[in-house]
Amino acid sequence: MNVIKYNLFPGGAHHCITLSYDDGRAADIRLAELFRENGLKATFHLNSGRLGMGDVITADQIPEVYRTHEVSCHMVTHPFPTDNPDISVLEEIIEDRRTFEAACGYVVRGMSYPFGNYNSHVIDLCRTAGMEYSRTTLSTKGFGIPQDFLTWHPTCHHNENVMDRLEHLYDFDKHGRMRLLYVWGHSYEFDNANNWHVIEEFAKAAANREDTWYATNIEIVDYINATKALRVSTDRTMVYNPTAIEVWFTINDQAVSVKPGETFKL
Ligand SMILES: [Zn+2]
Repeated sequence: MNVIKYNLFPGGAHHCITLSYDDGRAADIRLAELFRENGLKATFHLNSGRLGMGDVITADQIPEVYRTHEVSCHMVTHPFPTDNPDISVLEEIIEDRRTFEAACGYVVRGMSYPFGNYNSHVIDLCRTAGMEYSRTTLSTKGFGIPQDFLTWHPTCHHNENVMDRLEHLYDFDKHGRMRLLYVWGHSYEFDNANNWHVIEEFAKAAANREDTWYATNIEIVDYINATKALRVSTDRTMVYNPTAIEVWFTINDQAVSVKPGETFKL
């Protein structure tokens, strides 16, 4: 019997690196540029109600500062979502979407939980407001694909020995599964701790790695969803891809891909 495994990222890569930074403060300018220079992709979670306050990025700056990256929601006023009425949670996400969609020109579909605060009801509200993923603040130290993107637990904060995690991302995996390194934090922490060298070293070391896909959060969600949308024949010799994304997988340990709208045939 043919064996098909969804174990490859785009290009047939086994590894993926993504970054996730909250609150939209001015230090994002330096961080976004650092990532860009090194070919890394990040997602920046902003609060639309704080734009232009203190040293927070203004709405006008958004397209330039975050170009090549993803902008997503962090709720208008940075509340504890579990302490708020449903209408407030919904409105704070939808208002973020309205602002960032106007600034960025794409549909905003993700977020991170302010204070890492959520419960199962908040998850339902996020989904209703159009969110397809939301990041928590619970580090797993691991490299797995999340069970549920609306409780997307990161690998580590950048202060949690991120270089060690980068090294272990490339440990031999005898099962050949996809491995994802997800690093999160706040850019202003580098100013406060005077430790920009931590992320500069990481960015250099993480760049230009073979067998690695550099992606924003939503690109990962879309890709994993595309693998789940593949339709496989009973004898596993045909794989139909009804999505708009080229999907890679192994069949009998051979890496192959199926283009959008096409059927792979063994
Ligand atoms: Zn925050």
